[in-house]
Amino acid sequence: MDGSSPAQTQSAMTPPTRLKRARQTKIVATLGPGTTTTEQIEGLLTAGADVFRLNFSHGSHMEHAERLATIRRLEKRYHHPISILADLQGPKLRLGTFANGPITLTPGQRLRFDLDKTPGDETRVCLPHPEIFAALANDHTLLLDDGKVRVRVENRGSDYADTVVEVGTKLSDRKGVNVPNTVLPLSPLTEKDRADLRFALDNGIDWVALSFVQRPEDVAEARRLIGGRAPLLLKMEKPSAITYLTELVDLSDAIMVARGDLGVEMPAEDVPGLQKRIVRYCRSAGKPVIVATQMLESMISAPTPTRAEASDVATAVYDGADAVMLSAETAVGDYPVEAVTMMNRIARRVERDPLYRTIIDAVHYDPENTSADAITAAAKQVAATIDAAAIVTYTTSGSTTLRAARERPPVPIVSLTPKIDTARRMALCWGVYPIVTPDVTGFTEMVSKACRLTQESGLVEEGQRLVITCGVPFGTPGNTNVLRIAWVGA
Ligand code: PGA
Ligand code: MN
Repeated sequence: MDGSSPAQTQSAMTPPTRLKRARQTKIVATLGPGTTTTEQIEGLLTAGADVFRLNFSHGSHMEHAERLATIRRLEKRYHHPISILADLQGPKLRLGTFANGPITLTPGQRLRFDLDKTPGDETRVCLPHPEIFAALANDHTLLLDDGKVRVRVENRGSDYADTVVEVGTKLSDRKGVNVPNTVLPLSPLTEKDRADLRFALDNGIDWVALSFVQRPEDVAEARRLIGGRAPLLLKMEKPSAITYLTELVDLSDAIMVARGDLGVEMPAEDVPGLQKRIVRYCRSAGKPVIVATQMLESMISAPTPTRAEASDVATAVYDGADAVMLSAETAVGDYPVEAVTMMNRIARRVERDPLYRTIIDAVHYDPENTSADAITAAAKQVAATIDAAAIVTYTTSGSTTLRAARERPPVPIVSLTPKIDTARRMALCWGVYPIVTPDVTGFTEMVSKACRLTQESGLVEEGQRLVITCGVPFGTPGNTNVLRIAWVGA
């Protein structure tokens, strides 16, 4: 297995089996109908998935609960903290269903949208959003299925719109709808999102992702409902969110470059530059950033990617994104494990390219005026100077680990934390290898534990050195003030 294999065979006497990850860029795999069984999810995990995304646009709470339980069982079996991202649908506009499977369209034909929930056919389909009909005007465009189908409004009323198909040949159940000319007065949290959020928080997910954020005000309500129980990721997929980019990043705990909807709402040629701008700003702010959508799209139905897709994944890695994401590739595709394996191979190859370090180091973000930043910036320098095998950060909330990741050091960042929640969250972050372990109480124990755990995980070998950061007095959150070099002994 490329880069990810159980470090040791488990027996009663040996240390627990851990997954070794020889990769700094993380992989987010979306689960769906194609990835339901323990074997399927385990396949993605051992191929390299670090984070599983539950997409609340699809599936029932029962299905999500089963996947959650499976992930937690695998987490235990592999002694490997796994992040679960609950992605709320948000005010995503979707079509209803069709009675007899996908319909065929011909440009020039008419298609009616209405509020009737009866499954549709070649002549009409349900669009269960009255606010669209209220806001549409003649000659407005509706984009369906990520813009693959375009229709123009000819005639409309309060509960229907008659349109002419301009582009597109096929339409199937529940495809997304974008209305680029129309401003809709929508809250980023629908009734469904609130119910999904309650479910997700009750089931111990690690990240909440908010879709179709438009303005800084949108964040407050989500924060209030979450009440500190999970960190909040904001998806950049609306032109308006780009306008407020810096404010939104500052208000977030993490960001997703959601290129699917972003590329429908904005010209495709704008997306690559926006991706670089978003990733760069997130890196400067020390907020994890995921690049998402269509990364290996053709692998939904083919065992190998296009050269352009391989290059796209590589670009996100060269940019220093924290994570790259698979959507339909793993949720419904024919080759889910192959897609993760391919992403793992591309990321690893890029990270070993001598040009990679040059590119990553070309952008350097100065430490802020805090002791955590001073210590973590020094840790990167010291690790490079003495050719250390890893940086070890003792952390409670994960904030010190995040600051260490912001430095994008050339060695793994081992995050030792007493809190399983912190370890799971950190699984999303660039270069971080999280391990759960009780707080230490003294200096000798701090050093010996760092050496033992990194050695057990196969990250360092005897005779190599570690750079350790921690806070003294021990067990006090938010006081990183010590940098220690340690030899890994016999
Ligand atoms: P989605 O978000 O898959 O939930 O639509 C990602 C995107 O829009 O790129
Ligand atoms: Mn989206």
